[in-house]
Amino acid sequence: MEHKRSEDCPPEKESMEQNLFICPHLGLIKEPCERDSNPSDANACHAQKSPARIIQSYQLEFCLTNAHTDCPGYISGWIDGIPKSLTRSSTLKDLFKK
Ligand code: SF4
Repeated sequence: MEHKRSEDCPPEKESMEQNLFICPHLGLIKEPCERDSNPSDANACHAQKSPARIIQSYQLEFCLTNAHTDCPGYISGWIDGIPKSLTRSSTLKDLFKK
C-alpha cells in the first residue's frame, strides 16, 4: 500500500519519537507534508487520492497515536473511500455502525 507522506515528503520536523506514533497519511488538506501534531480540523487523511478532513476524536484515538496501525485506512487503504462517519460532523461511535 502507498504510504504517501513517508515516501513523498522530506524528513519531518517532529522528533523521531513523535513520528513513531503519528500515522504517515496524516497531513494538511492542501499540504500533505505538513500537519498539526494536535487534533485539528486542518488535519486530513491522505491514504486515498482525495484527502478528507478527519474528526478530531478519531485523530486523538488513532491518527496521532500508535493505534494508527489498527486503522483500516492504514492497514489496507480506503478502498471504498473514507467512511463519512470519520469526516467532520460524525462521532467516533458512528464509525463502527454498519
Ligand atoms: S484515518 Fe487512518 S489512515 Fe488516515 S491518517 Fe488517520 S490513522 Fe492514518
